[in-house]
Amino acid sequence: METVTCNLCGSDRHTVVYSMPDRLFNPEEFFTVVECKECGLGFVNPRPTPKEIGKYYPAAYYNYFRENVEFHRKRYRREAAYLEAVPATQRYLLDVGCANGDFPRFMKSLGWTVEGLEVSPAAAPISDFPVYRVPFPEANLGGSRYGAVTMWAVLEHVHDPMSYIAKARSVLQPGGYFVFLVTNFDSLYSRKLYQEDIPRHLYFFTEPTVRQYLNLNGFNLVSCRFDDDVYGAAPLNWLFYFVVTYVKRRPFEWADRKPTCSEYLAARGLEPALISKLRYVLDHPFAGLDAMLSPAVALVEKLLKRYGIVTYVARKQD
Ligand SMILES: [Zn+2]
Repeated sequence: METVTCNLCGSDRHTVVYSMPDRLFNPEEFFTVVECKECGLGFVNPRPTPKEIGKYYPAAYYNYFRENVEFHRKRYRREAAYLEAVPATQRYLLDVGCANGDFPRFMKSLGWTVEGLEVSPAAAPISDFPVYRVPFPEANLGGSRYGAVTMWAVLEHVHDPMSYIAKARSVLQPGGYFVFLVTNFDSLYSRKLYQEDIPRHLYFFTEPTVRQYLNLNGFNLVSCRFDDDVYGAAPLNWLFYFVVTYVKRRPFEWADRKPTCSEYLAARGLEPALISKLRYVLDHPFAGLDAMLSPAVALVEKLLKRYGIVTYVARKQD
């Protein structure tokens, strides 16, 4: 484990926001999320070092990309929509964190020239386009050649987001597009409800901290979309959070949250069929109500720019 200073402003002054375990693979290991007092960046601190982090990415983590094929196919179409404004002459993409390569493969089918970068040894081999197998900041990619760099749910995973954003600038053509999706630290999902994927997620961004990163690295922010069009961040346990915070008037702890429907089904080895979901609602009626109303809470979050997922589109300054 290592203790770090703020990646955005360098400060060592921060406050504790919450602690929670690695709920996917190491439920006995707890981690603490802090917020920088100077700039507001959220990060896990202390955290596993780059050498230690592999333990938290077992092969099972990558099953996610092999399963739910139809969901991912829709996701790639929606991700592609963020790149429609790129002129035909600049349709040269580098997808950083390309996993099994399905997104750049989809863009290739749309006529783009594509390359990928993936550091995980558990990700599938790719032979139909070039893939770099080194950390992005260390990759030898030549000059400013890409028309677009994408990072779908990548920056929250890396140990040094600043170096990734600086590298994106250095490999993009002037005016090139930098499109990335991250979770939103200004959401119930990220900040209050213990839904972040810790310690695979090491950083927690907000629109103001993203703007600072982009300004420091010569990018202009074109748009930010608070939406579930690519990935969702349903605010589950929001009802319990409000009861504990505003009725019982104490902090909402990890132990206060109720199992979500998918956790309940997984713990009992049940298929996600309607009958199993009914069993969950009967066992946990308030959690069922919480889950049923969460789309309404999510809608309010989207309107207030507080939703748990944000897609940013930025352009390299000329
Ligand atoms: Zn800071």
